[in-house]
Amino acid sequence: MTIYRARVLDTPDDPLTGGWLRSDDDAGLLVTDGVIVERGVWTDVRTAHPDEEVVDLRDGVLLPGLVDTHVHYPQVRAIGALGMPLLVWLERCALPEEARLADPAYAVAVAEEFVSGLVSAGTTTALVFGSHYVDAVDTLFTEATRVGVRVTSGLVVSDRALPAPLLSDPQRAYDESVALAARWHGDGLTRYAVTPRFSYSASDELLAACAAVHTEVAGSWFTSHVNENASEVAEVARLFATSEHYVDTYDRHDLVGACSVLAHNVHPTRAELDVLAARGASVAHCPSSNASLGSGLFPLRRHVEHGVRVALGSDVGAGTGFSLLKEGLQAYFLQSLLGAEGLPLTATHLLHLATRAGALALGLADEIGDLGVGRRFDAVWVRPLADDPLDVCLRHAVSAEDALAKIFALGGDSDIAGVWVGGRRVKTLSSDRRSG
Ligand SMILES: [Zn+2]
Repeated sequence: MTIYRARVLDTPDDPLTGGWLRSDDDAGLLVTDGVIVERGVWTDVRTAHPDEEVVDLRDGVLLPGLVDTHVHYPQVRAIGALGMPLLVWLERCALPEEARLADPAYAVAVAEEFVSGLVSAGTTTALVFGSHYVDAVDTLFTEATRVGVRVTSGLVVSDRALPAPLLSDPQRAYDESVALAARWHGDGLTRYAVTPRFSYSASDELLAACAAVHTEVAGSWFTSHVNENASEVAEVARLFATSEHYVDTYDRHDLVGACSVLAHNVHPTRAELDVLAARGASVAHCPSSNASLGSGLFPLRRHVEHGVRVALGSDVGAGTGFSLLKEGLQAYFLQSLLGAEGLPLTATHLLHLATRAGALALGLADEIGDLGVGRRFDAVWVRPLADDPLDVCLRHAVSAEDALAKIFALGGDSDIAGVWVGGRRVKTLSSDRRSG
């Protein structure tokens, strides 16, 4: 058993519906076999367990592990291509890079870079858009398992509108997906996600094959894109003339449910929000990507008012990095700029969107998302370098909420000095690196 001593901030209950920031200035978390079995005031926990090992994290702030609900493994090297709308960016930048993962050695290198990117940013759990290639998806799951992060992912499938090397067909998509799920879908670190790229590149027959996989693989997740960009939405409406709307292209195959996460939804109709709410589906909000591609201004207020669940996604590589602290700040900026149509967000909201909301979207709320008793010890230790602006601001913060706002405003990968998944430390910053 280990006792972690720290200032702990988390959001077990949704602050949009009455929850608050739980803050313990000097807490003791007793962890056994990767699970938090006791949480309390440090002196009480220590008195009850005087002989257990202590990890002293008082020189920083401990947060729950961050949860990224939309991020593309093959696009690490595509980050930072600015100046293009979605469909142009896909054609010129993202898809040529994704085709390179046909080379197994290339896929190994990218998988290492990708998982390293997650861990460096403090992301302990991610719903990952995989590759169009079976071997490359195996490579991702292998690397995630080796490092020890929680990954839900799958084979990305399409049968039209993409370069030929990225295309499949319904039968092959079914066979390859079921075989991958047999190898990786479990209740440990890895789970399978049925992943058509988007309706723009998927026929009805392919979506039917996806539905068959989703049914065949009990407990599998479903993820795709929806309503990201006006040109894309118009083309999907043309391709699916008998569908009521974009969400319906998935829903009519029973792919929209409590185990579904649809990315973006920047341009939803009221009817689409009604369907998403009725099905209990979640939306991954990716503010950096939406801004970078000029996709639009995410209507968070309308989602919340309809009762649609929302979490955060980095959407690397259209998104500009892995940090969910940055995505939280971008979400805050965007809602501010929307004025009366926006939803004013506090730092507590941002923490919830980056942690607990993601756990709920991924069906992992019983295991992760906060640092309460019974949860896995998935945690991020924010400890900036001495006299760095974040360090200065944290030392002068007047409240827990204020400290959290400083973390979202100023925090980056270099401030994350420790990351644990299930009690296992997966990131340590050496003193050499921190002083170098
Ligand atoms: Zn995406």
